[in-house]
Amino acid sequence: MTDPQYRVLVTDEVDAEGVALLRNHPSIEVVERPTRPIEELLEEIDQYDAMIGRSATRISADVLDQGTRLRVIGRAGVGVDNVDVERATELGIAVINAPGGNTVSVAEIVFGVLISHLRHIPAAASSMKAGEWRRLQLGGAELRGRTIVIAGLGRIGSEIARRGRVFGLKVLGYDPYVSDSRFEELGVERVVDFQTALDLADILTLHVPLTSETRGMVGANELARLGPRAIVLNFARGGIVDEAALVEALQQGRIAAAMVDVFAKEPLAKDHPLRNLPNVLLTPHLGASTAEAQRNVALEACAAVRDALVTGDLSAAMNAAGVGGAALGEIRPLLQLAERLGRLGRALLPTGLSAMELRYSGPRPTAARPLLLSALQGAMQNVVERRAINLVNAQHVAAERGIETAWTHVSPSHELGEEIELRIEGGARSLRIGGALLGESHGRITRIGAFRVDIAPRGTLLVMRNRDVPGVIGRVGTLLGELGVNIAEYHQARLQAGGEALAAVQIDGSLAAEQMEMLCALPELLDAKQVEMGWDYRP
Ligand code: NAD
Repeated sequence: MTDPQYRVLVTDEVDAEGVALLRNHPSIEVVERPTRPIEELLEEIDQYDAMIGRSATRISADVLDQGTRLRVIGRAGVGVDNVDVERATELGIAVINAPGGNTVSVAEIVFGVLISHLRHIPAAASSMKAGEWRRLQLGGAELRGRTIVIAGLGRIGSEIARRGRVFGLKVLGYDPYVSDSRFEELGVERVVDFQTALDLADILTLHVPLTSETRGMVGANELARLGPRAIVLNFARGGIVDEAALVEALQQGRIAAAMVDVFAKEPLAKDHPLRNLPNVLLTPHLGASTAEAQRNVALEACAAVRDALVTGDLSAAMNAAGVGGAALGEIRPLLQLAERLGRLGRALLPTGLSAMELRYSGPRPTAARPLLLSALQGAMQNVVERRAINLVNAQHVAAERGIETAWTHVSPSHELGEEIELRIEGGARSLRIGGALLGESHGRITRIGAFRVDIAPRGTLLVMRNRDVPGVIGRVGTLLGELGVNIAEYHQARLQAGGEALAAVQIDGSLAAEQMEMLCALPELLDAKQVEMGWDYRP
């Protein structure tokens, strides 16, 4: 049995069934460590290819910088505010979460606490335990007929909407990033302006991510706009509701009640004023704490981390170009071809890269962008002084360096397979490199500048410009023979007899610097470049 290739660190408590998906893979070694001080994590993080956990471990820029082997961060849950995603993207580390698994659990607890509050269930239960019978004092109210405003109509927001309608609530939604048709499909009335939504809400429930836009989304002004009958729920993330403003609004009776599961600082301080208010129902971040949700998110995240490591499937990564699963398998030869064209183009360009445009002709419109990223990956490999460029960070690194990028898809004009054309610019030069995929997996370089060629995009390639005079091929062949270098493929192209010609030669091994000088010294050669095209490929 071969040694495992990948080491995965499991922090926090990830459901065992999920961890087993990693452990049972022959190329993965799993190390489980409970949450512990950051210093300890920093010390050993450079031994791991991936890390997976829940929200307890903060994965800061320091952790990512220190984790020189890291390729994947997995989060068995939805929110990734414990991960510095921006830094991860810069470093080419895929961040994978499990967005679907705990949706229903959160939606269910929201109605649980709402009804608990309206029917005084916590007080009733404890009074019964205390031997009382407070039937008269504990009369409640119905949910039916109230207006609920759901801020954030994503996965959880949608489930709230469905259940809300069943309870006879009037369901309004505020989410500027969701289409009208989605609102219609869910039977939710759209409110385009958040302030107006506040005027209409009997119940305001937040289901947005924590972003710079949503931090403090509900502050003193927003709470003031809600009526004295209003109930506010935050089961999304601490920080979305301003806690100090919430305490004040509750104390002054400007809103009726609040139900809060998530806090700006967790665990919530023992003496936090929210704990002592009568019209508040607090839970200790329990939204996703069900057996079902924990199992679902662990299975989802662990399978995605495994696939990202072992097959390069980044479809679950929130910071990558959404290619994966069967689609990745289908376009892998194209991705490889694009990467090789990028390498070749960059090597032949005399100055730095300033723009890259990829045109893909073939039956898969969605492939164009990943192909551009793959070409950028090839063009910037070993050029940028940082960690490997990959599909996660290619565009980010390009933008950082001021490289303009564009991609287009055109329907294939013939049945001859799929084609990629790369136009790259640097300084005043523009160069076109073309490639084609023949028979679904067989990539060829078909164009270098104005020249039509046909050569395999693998191994070491010598690209030579020469005068089109008799005997050049012989002299190049003789020199390479004398140097003990074997020619695998030799392709000569010219535009017109007696003009300039181009030779693309695939050799076994590679030429040392002085051997390249001997080649360039051949009288007919205008210039020669050696390009390492590589053999292995990983998206
Ligand atoms: P999601 O990505 O499916 O949905 C989020 C929605 O918010 C999207 O539709 C998006 O368009 C919308 N949105 C983003 N910015 C907005 C803005 N400024 N105004 C209005 N809408 C905006 O996410 P989800 O899976 O539904 O999760 C929602 C929230 O619940 C997240 O914050 C997540 O971290 C949290 N969550 C909490 C628990 C818990 O234990 N309490 C469990 C799971 C998820």
